[in-house]
Amino acid sequence: MNYIVMDLEWNQSYSGRMGEHPRMPFEIIEIGAVKVDKNYHIIDEYSSLIKPRIYKKLHTKIKSILNYTEADLNTGRSFKEVCTEFLEWCGEDYMFCTWGPMDLTELQTNMDFYYMPRLPRPLKFLNLQMIYAESMDATASTVSKLEKAVADFHIPEDEPFHTALNDARYTALVLKEMKPKNLKEQYSFDLYMHPKSKEEEIVAIHNNQYEYISRDFPSKQDALDDKNVNAIRCYKCNKKTTKKIKWFCNSPSTYICVGKCWRHGNFCGKIKFKPLNDGRYYVIKTIKPITREGIEAIRQKQEDIREKRKEKRHLKSAGTEDSFT
Ligand SMILES: [Zn+2]
Repeated sequence: MNYIVMDLEWNQSYSGRMGEHPRMPFEIIEIGAVKVDKNYHIIDEYSSLIKPRIYKKLHTKIKSILNYTEADLNTGRSFKEVCTEFLEWCGEDYMFCTWGPMDLTELQTNMDFYYMPRLPRPLKFLNLQMIYAESMDATASTVSKLEKAVADFHIPEDEPFHTALNDARYTALVLKEMKPKNLKEQYSFDLYMHPKSKEEEIVAIHNNQYEYISRDFPSKQDALDDKNVNAIRCYKCNKKTTKKIKWFCNSPSTYICVGKCWRHGNFCGKIKFKPLNDGRYYVIKTIKPITREGIEAIRQKQEDIREKRKEKRHLKSAGTEDSFT
């Protein structure tokens, strides 16, 4: 299997929201990619400019960071032609690698705009931005710029950033420097399309965690009431386990719990609600091992939330909440 390290450049409406096409807010104007083998050697390259059809004038912000002009773009070919050629170039057995999740989203938005056949699902890819952040420091921001990673690894900066091919090359060099262990295990699922039915739901045990991506539900509560959503299974053996801390609301969009498998120890479950445009929700549930200190921190958090709630109730009943906000 090869890795396709891909980078895209896109343009947007020059006149802001007014001139925006609702089906394609960002129009891809360049596809760049390198093919990398299992030893992280670059074995092939792909690069092509795309002649824009919707946003023909470069947005001022885009123009200031990119290295080309409208005249350059006019030498490009249609998105459909380039994208078809690119996907053929990718070959049969590959995994996309990108710096952050946006490139795959925009690629598929543009493909949908032209009613091209969809990429096969579930779509696994390697989010190298996240893998880089985790390799550096778990507390670091997960949105480091590519420039920072390139500088961190002292990769010579011979070519300008912000052409798709150069950025793809730099990303591949960062990958080579990181040489992540079990790289194939560290994939993410692309969330451009969530599972539409029970049959399409995703369950995967990888990278020392259990991951479940559900179909959509009318409300958060409907999701929480679903057996598959609220079940906590061991991240290793997938067996149902006992709850040590029941699901509780940890932030507006997440629930957490702690469970124990008699063979594999303690783990933390997390449900993240993903809102859809029509008001429905689907969930991403992850289950990962947790230390005793980790459990204590969660207990403390739960306690804090309870206290805050009590305080609020108290203030409300005293009718003084306004003076405290
Ligand atoms: Zn287990």
